Amino acid sequence: MTSIQHLKGVGPKRAEMFARLGVATVEDLLFYFPRKWEDRRLGAKKEPLPFVEDAPVIRGRVKKVRDMYTASGLRIFKVFLETAGGEAEASFFKRHTPRFDVFAPLRKDLAPERTVWITGTPEDPLFLSRLRADEYYPDDDARALKMHVGRLVPVYPLTEGLTPKFMREAVFAAVEAAAAEAPEFLPPGLPARRRLLARDLAARAIHFPENNFELVQARRRFIYEELLLLALAWAIKRRQTRSVNKSFGYELKKNLLTPFRENLGFSFTAAQAHAIKEIFADMQAPTPMARLLEGDVGSGKTVVALSAMLLAAENGGQCVFAAPTEILAEQHFLTFERFLKGVNVRCALLTGRVAAVRKKEILEKLAAGEIDILLGTHSVLGPEVKFKSLRLAVIDEQHRFGVRQRAALRAKGDRADMLIMTATPIPRTLLLALYGDLDLSAIRELPPGRLPVKTAEATEEIAFNAAADEAAKGRQVYIVYPVIEETQAADMKSVKTEFERLKVFFKGRRVEMLHGRLPGALKKKVMEEFSAGKIDILVATQVIEVGIDVPNATLMVINNAERFGLASLHQLRGRVGRGRWDSRCLLVAQSRTGDGAERLRAMTQCSSGFELSEKDIYIRGAGEILGVRQHGDMDLKIADMSRDAEVLAEALEDRDALLAADPGLARPENFRLRRKLRDLYAAKWNLIDLS
Ligand code: ADP
Ligand code: MG
Repeated sequence: MTSIQHLKGVGPKRAEMFARLGVATVEDLLFYFPRKWEDRRLGAKKEPLPFVEDAPVIRGRVKKVRDMYTASGLRIFKVFLETAGGEAEASFFKRHTPRFDVFAPLRKDLAPERTVWITGTPEDPLFLSRLRADEYYPDDDARALKMHVGRLVPVYPLTEGLTPKFMREAVFAAVEAAAAEAPEFLPPGLPARRRLLARDLAARAIHFPENNFELVQARRRFIYEELLLLALAWAIKRRQTRSVNKSFGYELKKNLLTPFRENLGFSFTAAQAHAIKEIFADMQAPTPMARLLEGDVGSGKTVVALSAMLLAAENGGQCVFAAPTEILAEQHFLTFERFLKGVNVRCALLTGRVAAVRKKEILEKLAAGEIDILLGTHSVLGPEVKFKSLRLAVIDEQHRFGVRQRAALRAKGDRADMLIMTATPIPRTLLLALYGDLDLSAIRELPPGRLPVKTAEATEEIAFNAAADEAAKGRQVYIVYPVIEETQAADMKSVKTEFERLKVFFKGRRVEMLHGRLPGALKKKVMEEFSAGKIDILVATQVIEVGIDVPNATLMVINNAERFGLASLHQLRGRVGRGRWDSRCLLVAQSRTGDGAERLRAMTQCSSGFELSEKDIYIRGAGEILGVRQHGDMDLKIADMSRDAEVLAEALEDRDALLAADPGLARPENFRLRRKLRDLYAAKWNLIDLS
C-alpha cells in the first residue's frame, strides 16, 4: 500500500482532504470511482448513457482576445476563436485586483494563433459556442488530452479544497502508478465466462475510458465484483449462523401463551398465525433463528413478536425488544402492559430517559434473570446491559438498525434467536443479496375491519377545515411538518412556527406540539395525553412516523409532503385508520415537480406498502429505501441493487456455483477471492469468520 502522498502535488494538507473522502493510499484512489462522466469529445457520435453527461467544449485557433472591466469590479477576458464548425467565444471572469494583472497567464496561454481547448457552461443554452469558461488546455499538451478534454472525462465526488481538475490529475497519476498491478481476484475462467473486463484494464477504463463501450464494460466489471462479494459474504454468514446448535430447547408449554391469547380481545389473522407458526418452528429447531418479519404498517407485527417472546419466557429464557425511538419504545411498553395483564411475565423499559437509580436496578435484575422481557431503544445495546440467559432478540423497524447493531444484540446471548421486523417490504431478489442471511415471513393481510385510509392531495385550507371537522366530531388529528425550526435555506414549514399559528386557527381545541428536541418528560406527557384523547390536534415532525397507535386519530395532514420519501409518507399515513372510523390522509404540497410529484401520485393511487415499495425503489433507488446506506451495512460503491438487477442475478448464480463446488473457498483457485472477502467483510465489519 502506497501512501497517497507519493503522488505529485499531494502533501500532508491534500492528504487530509483525501482522507475525508476515505482515500489514504494510491490503491484507494484507484478504486475511488467517478460519480459520473462528462463527454468532452468533439463531434463524436454521442450515444446517450444515463451516467454520461454531455459537456460543452470548444477547440479552436485564437483569433483575438479582449480584456474588459465591468462596473461591479469584475474583469472579463474574452477569447474569440475559429473552430472547425465556425466561430466561438469564451469568457473568463475574475475579480479585479489593483496593480496585479490577473489575466497575465491567460494572455500568454491564449495568445492569438494558438490552438486551444476550452470548457465551460454555455452562457445561453441556445448558443453552445459561447461559453463562460472554466478550464483551458493548449492543443499540444498531450498529457492534458489524456485526461481533461477531447475524451470522456471522469467526475468525482469532491471535498473542499480539491478541484475537479486536480482530482483528475491525481487519479490519472494513480492509474499510471497502480492500475496495471490491480490484482485479479476472481477465479480463473470466471471473467471470461461472464465476459468481464480484466481487472487491470477495468481499473483504468473506469476513470479514463476510450469510448462508451469500454466505460460500460468497466462499470459492469466493478458492479459484478461488488455484488458477488456481498452475496458471498451473506451466504457464508448464513451458513455460519446455522452451523452451530443452540444450547437450549423449547417446549410449547402455553402457560403464558394461553392467557395472553385469551387476553387479546381479538384472534390472529391467518397471516399472523402463519408467521407465528414459522417463528415457533425456527425457535424449536436446533440452530438459531435469523428471521425477517415483513408486514405492512398496521398489520399487527407486535403481537406476533410478543408470542415469540412468551414462548421463550415459558421456557425460562429472557428476551430483548429493541425499538428505534424512545416514543415508540414507551408506546410499546404500554401495549405490552395491556396485552400482558394477568400473564405471569416480568417486563422492564430501558431508554436513555430512565433515571440512573432505576437503570441500575433494571441491570441488576436482568443479570439475575429476574426480568423476562427487556424493552428499549438503542440503549439496550450498551455493554453494561447483561442478561442471565438471553434467548431471543427482537428488532423493530429494522431499517433503523445496522448489521453491527444486530450482531451486538445477538452477542448478548449464547446463540440466541433473532427476529427482525420491518414495515418496508423488500423484494425477494434484493432480500437475498442484502440480507441473505435471513429467512422471511410476511404478513400480507391487515386485521379485519380496517378501512383503507383515503388519500388525496389538498390545499392547506381544505386540510385545516377537515381537521376542524374531525375535532368537532371528537376525533383526533396529526398535522406533520418536515422540520422543527425554520431555516432560511428552503421553503419548508416548521413545527415551531406553524404551531403558534395553528393554536390561533384552532381556537377552543387543545393543540400541542411534538418533536425530537423537546425534553424527554414532556414528549412522554404529550404522547400520553394524545393517547388518552385529551389533545385534539398534534402538530409534529416525523417523530410520530413509526409505531404510534391511537385508534381515535382519523386524520393525517402532511405538509411539504413533496419533501418526504415514499416509505415515510406511508408510515405516517399508517398512524390513522386504526380504529372503527373512516380515516383520511391529506397531502399538502408546496411544489409539484419531479420525484416529489411522482411520490404524491403513488400515494394517492396505492394503499399497500408492498405496491409502494416497488415504486419507491423505482423513484429513489434501493439503497435509500432500505435506509442501509447511512448504516454502512454494505459499502456499495458502484452497484445499485435495483438498477443492476441483471448483474445481480448473474452474481447470485455464480455465488451458488462457487460455494457448491468449494464451500469453504479453500481451493487454490479461490484463494484470492477468499482473501478479498476476508479483507472486506471479515476484517472490516466482522460480519463473517474467514480465519
Ligand atoms: P405494525 O405491524 O405496524 O407494528 P401493530 O402491531 O402496531 O402493527 O398493530 C396495529 C394495531 O392492530 C394494534 O392496535 C394491534 O393491537 C391491532 N391488531 C393486531 N392484530 C390484530 C388482529 N388480528 N385483529 C385485530 N386487531 C389487531
Ligand atoms: Mg410496529
